[in-house]
Amino acid sequence: MSELREYLDKITDDDLINPDHSVHLDNLDSLSNFRQEFHLPCKRDAEITYLCGNSLGLMPKRTQSLIAEELDVWKTRAVEGHFDHPYQRPWKSCDELVKGSLAAIVGANADEVAAMGQLTSNLHKLLITFYKPSAQRYKIVFEDNAFPSDNYALNSHAYLHNLNPDDALIRVKPRSGESTLRTQDILSTLEEHGNEVALVMFSGVHFYTGQLFDIPTITSHAKSFGAYVGWDLAHAVGNVPLKLHEWNVDFAVWCSYKYLNSSPGGIAGIFIHESQTQSQCQADHRRLEGWWGHDPETRFEMGPHFSPSLGASAWMVSNTPVLTLIALYASLQLFDEAGMENLRAKSVALTGYMERLLKYSKHYTDSSNVEHKQFTIITPSNPSERGAQLSLKFNKDYMLFYNEQLQIHGVVGDDRKPEVIRLAPAPLYNSFRDVHKAVSALDKILDDF
Ligand SMILES: *Cc1c(COP(=O)(O)O)cnc(C)c1O
Repeated sequence: MSELREYLDKITDDDLINPDHSVHLDNLDSLSNFRQEFHLPCKRDAEITYLCGNSLGLMPKRTQSLIAEELDVWKTRAVEGHFDHPYQRPWKSCDELVKGSLAAIVGANADEVAAMGQLTSNLHKLLITFYKPSAQRYKIVFEDNAFPSDNYALNSHAYLHNLNPDDALIRVKPRSGESTLRTQDILSTLEEHGNEVALVMFSGVHFYTGQLFDIPTITSHAKSFGAYVGWDLAHAVGNVPLKLHEWNVDFAVWCSYKYLNSSPGGIAGIFIHESQTQSQCQADHRRLEGWWGHDPETRFEMGPHFSPSLGASAWMVSNTPVLTLIALYASLQLFDEAGMENLRAKSVALTGYMERLLKYSKHYTDSSNVEHKQFTIITPSNPSERGAQLSLKFNKDYMLFYNEQLQIHGVVGDDRKPEVIRLAPAPLYNSFRDVHKAVSALDKILDDF
């Protein structure tokens, strides 16, 4: 991957727009073969330039054959598939298949992660455990303009505790004229409210701005005030390097259909730090329990008392949805082969390349006051403060129109009201040529309209 960086470093911006460089960069990319592992979407027989893996990841080719195998086991063995499986993936413990890969991706021990449920419902489960407001300590600090589902979830937990969300929730806002949050402002909010804060809950990468928060600094600061700290990693998992165990994060949730390509609505995941998995439930027994969280050794004795599994698995409730678990397994094999470090190195080069091409466009402005035929980038320019995604801000009267035009030109990003188009080159399957095509299309659209 250092070849990519060296190549990019030696080319000037006015030379970089030459598409030949995108071909050279693809040749230097040691992960370029992974593109062939995916089905690339088409429209009217033309391949699409897909920069929307932050919303729904593409389908790995091997997903189809792995799911076909499971359907075949169901067809031919029915209930026996739980215990006796021709491909050694007995359904009763199939969640074990993905633990090692998930742990590597989020920087955890295998016992600290579990594949289960879906993001928002998992968040509810972990808020039951980790949001324990008292009369003095009941506030939740999180980001303003959070993803709506997280906002609804946190509000509803305030109501469950008979609290007024307007009082219980502290939303940290960007400074006026700025789009992203300063770490300093998050830390000083924590200082201001110190001992009132029960929980700090942020997204790892913000869905609208693409900002990657400083997870270790915010976590350690919040913990020094005695708050619990949780992260919603929907846009971070499989995108940026994570070390949840080392950073002492209490808990995290994520979905896996974005960068992890697990299928639409695919099975989600949780992390609970090992220092919490034991202590949390002994003291006050705040956990929603079900038979799949029971110790698997004795689960099928069907006894009256709950005996928890080791680690995060004790928070599992229902038996594993095999088809989506296997779809996740298919994609995680590719992550294992590619390695998160390599993916991140390529991602930094790929998104940096996109940023340089965009900023070279005559339609780019660095003013936050964006006019017709213009755009700016609200995602931080520092690679350590972002993942793959760049959020392009347009004039709000034109944003939807420009995104429609991009689709007509075969480029798929997505719009987020009021004024953003998100473009996210996923390093597992996107190429430098994809990025060049997308930026040229945008440039032409802005020339024409
Ligand atoms: C994508 C996303 C979700 C999705 O929630 P589901 O429960 O999977 O539907 C939630 N939160 C954030 C921050 C997201 O980006």
